[in-house]
Amino acid sequence: MSESHRFPVAAPQAVPADQAAVRRGNLGRVLRLLRDAGPRSRARIAQETGLNKATVSSLVAELADRGLVTDGEVDRGGAVGRPGLPVHLDGTGVCGIGVELNVDYVAILVLDLGGEVRFEHRVALDVPALGAERTLDEVARLVGEAATAAGAAVPVGITVAVPGLVRSVDGVVPDAPNLGWHDVAVLDGLVARLGPGCPVRVENDANLSAIAEWAMGPEARTPDLVYLTGEVGVGGGLVVDGRLLRGTAGFSGEVGHTPLGDPAVVCGCGRRGCWETVVGLGALLRAAADPDDPVHDSGRDLETRLAELAARADAGDRRTLDALAAVGTGLGTGAAVLINLVNPQVVLLGGYFAVLGRFLLEPMTAELRERVFAADLAGARVVLSTLGFTAAVRGGAHVALEQVLDDPTLVPAPEPIPADPPIRTETSA
Ligand SMILES: [Zn+2]
Repeated sequence: MSESHRFPVAAPQAVPADQAAVRRGNLGRVLRLLRDAGPRSRARIAQETGLNKATVSSLVAELADRGLVTDGEVDRGGAVGRPGLPVHLDGTGVCGIGVELNVDYVAILVLDLGGEVRFEHRVALDVPALGAERTLDEVARLVGEAATAAGAAVPVGITVAVPGLVRSVDGVVPDAPNLGWHDVAVLDGLVARLGPGCPVRVENDANLSAIAEWAMGPEARTPDLVYLTGEVGVGGGLVVDGRLLRGTAGFSGEVGHTPLGDPAVVCGCGRRGCWETVVGLGALLRAAADPDDPVHDSGRDLETRLAELAARADAGDRRTLDALAAVGTGLGTGAAVLINLVNPQVVLLGGYFAVLGRFLLEPMTAELRERVFAADLAGARVVLSTLGFTAAVRGGAHVALEQVLDDPTLVPAPEPIPADPPIRTETSA
């Protein structure tokens, strides 16, 4: 989303179809401004939103009532507060929850509206062996644990990241080959376990990671950004002109199944020669180590296994170095297609590509220089994600919080204090 999309210029002369909807939208504009640009005075909010000062004062008062902003200087007896004093976002009372399902782990992260991580946990789990029902049981248990850990921050939404095709309209996963899931009703399954209290949505993991990078990574707000995540599968999230490219059914970014590999090699999806058979985690591990090597043990934490591979590479182990070089070159081949197609400013490498990036960048860049049609990679930089394996859960929590920024009235104001105490009638014994 571009800045102009996030802060649409209001047309004050237009007669609104629904005054309440306009007010909700304006509350959201003020809240979003405070989150994205920091504390500022009412006068400055008015200047930057184009709203008049009296409206801004009224909006700030309502946001304060709902516990979303702090401002100690509002004069409750009068019309407005002192206009020169800054209004601060108070993000502590509201949080979003991001959950990521992957082949060998489930991760969860709680982010409050102020951007603070309140809880973070990853459980090593053999999801394909466990199956959908028992995995969703585990997700529900983790959500309960996370909501308790979040304390005073009330969850306003849960977003579940899945490595596969996601029909976001009804939260069904038609196909997640590496999980072995077909037509799994993730949304309905979780609502049945958690109850209707907290809205749940389901999204593709790479798309959520791209959103996280766009919203909060070091490359935030880069209008044209390609995100590639390396796990067992390989996914892509494309931000074009400041918007996530979803496509007609929401299935964009399935770059892992682009036919760039050896046609003799069968992919997890059943096709042959998919790109992830060259650069997916399975391809790296197979090339780097024998099947009985502990780095293949999916019951162990992935980062521990990757640290073991990095240590071997640092020690000059030829087999590990060759395996990493082959992945780096393969990454260059596929990324060149994306650079030729999208012309991004940044190609971000996430997942295991980021963890082992220092071994991958050189062969990848050499291949890109051969393959990208325009000079100097058409202006693209290849950057390692600093969000690492938390990108998808951060993106999920961020998306969950967006609904409060779109409509802050979702956060209830406390009940008004009754004007008169109830009359007590004395009765004699
Ligand atoms: Zn495939």
